[in-house]
Amino acid sequence: MRGLMMDYPLTITHILDRARRLFRDKPVLTRTASGMHRYTYGDLYRRVCRLANALTALGVCDGERVGSFAWNTYRHLELYLGIPSSGRVLHTLNIRLFPEQIGFIVNHAEDALIFVDDSLVPALEALAPQLKCVRGYVVMGDGPLPKTSLAPLYRYEDLLAAASEDYDLPRLDENNAAGMCYTSGTTGNPKGVAYSHRALTLQSLAQCSADAFGLCESDVVMSVVPMFQANAWGLPYTATLVGATQIYPGAQPTPQDICELVQEHKISVTAGVPTVLLGMLGALEQKSYDLSSLRCVPCGGSAVPESLLARFDQLGIRVVQAWGMTETSPLATLSKPRSSMVSWSAEQQRLVRAKQGMSMPFVEMRIVGDDGKELPQDGKSVGELQVRGPWIVAEYYNDPRSAAAFQDGWFKTGDIATIDPDGYLQITDRAKDVIKSGGEWISSVELENAIIGHPQVLEAAVIGLPHERWQERPLACVVPRPGQQVSRAEILKFLADKVAKWWLPEDVVFVESIPKTSVGKIAKRDLREQFKDYHWPSEKA
Ligand code: ADP
Repeated sequence: MRGLMMDYPLTITHILDRARRLFRDKPVLTRTASGMHRYTYGDLYRRVCRLANALTALGVCDGERVGSFAWNTYRHLELYLGIPSSGRVLHTLNIRLFPEQIGFIVNHAEDALIFVDDSLVPALEALAPQLKCVRGYVVMGDGPLPKTSLAPLYRYEDLLAAASEDYDLPRLDENNAAGMCYTSGTTGNPKGVAYSHRALTLQSLAQCSADAFGLCESDVVMSVVPMFQANAWGLPYTATLVGATQIYPGAQPTPQDICELVQEHKISVTAGVPTVLLGMLGALEQKSYDLSSLRCVPCGGSAVPESLLARFDQLGIRVVQAWGMTETSPLATLSKPRSSMVSWSAEQQRLVRAKQGMSMPFVEMRIVGDDGKELPQDGKSVGELQVRGPWIVAEYYNDPRSAAAFQDGWFKTGDIATIDPDGYLQITDRAKDVIKSGGEWISSVELENAIIGHPQVLEAAVIGLPHERWQERPLACVVPRPGQQVSRAEILKFLADKVAKWWLPEDVVFVESIPKTSVGKIAKRDLREQFKDYHWPSEKA
């Protein structure tokens, strides 16, 4: 027997319409060069309707891709809502990718228009000759149109001013694409992920559950995660769905800006990669900020070291680790200790929180060995993590590499991990970063997390380099804290009781900085390249 329920589509359109009906007076604030821009959800809704009409006037068809090249602002939020709610597809372009990669992405997605922040016009200009499909550029800003070779050129505010505010939201198919995002392409060209309305709305609903972020109307939410990175982890959609007060940090926020915004606006939820949170800790060392309003700080994108959790715990701020990928919309797991662990010491609980956590409702995960067979979830068996669920990619957009990315309906993440009997995931490495020493695997992530716990260490990265006897051995690259000194021997001594003896780095080198990818992760490929001529101390002798 079939269920007799309405076939109501799960779409971004509903998120927008709900905001209009219930939260018209709630504020959206953006940090700008001339102070805070402030308006309400009501204003947001009216401008989104104008945007939808402007897209029609510019001849953008249903299902066509519209690119954004922009920071986190209210205008970008308007694109987040207006482009998908009117049946088009928002393609957020990562402004930090290499120009050739951005060119590839725009051409591959066949973006019809690109909406660009005025401050980013020069960056886009350099690329424009490569962009075959783009029919126009829309500049977002308060001033007049800049002098530029981009053409044809439109001013966002003029387009909105000329468009009507009357717009009937269409009823869309929940399986149509709402957004697109490309992976950062650490190997080969970036791969396109097309998010359906259904995937994004379900992701947002899941984020509202109490065991996730418990996002609600009374929250003050700031998306620090760039809106050009995996939909700012979905926070703009979730915040709009529940009617939270929203704060956007604008162009190039520094750690001080972030701390000031939290203090000034009593922000309760903000999310960021570990590098951003480390930056906030650095800012706190210079000046005191009252960050006590923060009740939940999701952190992920790369492993969250236990020492980072501990330092925020000392401030009374709860950092919650999450794991995900561009391909998983992006959140798939969250690490919170469960009720049976509340009697444990803070240290023991932190060990759990330093894992990537339990899968969110409706996400399934398994670990698979080299032979393609599922491994036991015993916390010891190490294999590739595979996931499936309603917000996990089913295939890459127009990409023959899709064939190799799936096994029996499961998405192969390329992450190497264990799952313990309680169901907590622990990522040990990305497959391409694993260090194979004497036939065994060493987790570079675990070594990095341990080294970063040393009080004199600012940053650390561990890579595997060829070794005559052991095939590969770990090299630790360490950035000491400013004005501090630490020696190789001290690092090795510090690690001695934290990792197995054969895991100890073969050598420790001190560097000024660690190269980062466009999304702020350690660029291990660049680091391996940097040390390709390196010789182990034993070989030098
Ligand atoms: P890209 O794949 O282009 O680097 P993503 O942002 O999609 O960009 O990166 C996803 C990857 O980031 C995951 O496969 C995983 O390796 C890593 N990652 C994300 N969150 C965590 C986390 N909490 N701990 C460890 N690694 C993480």
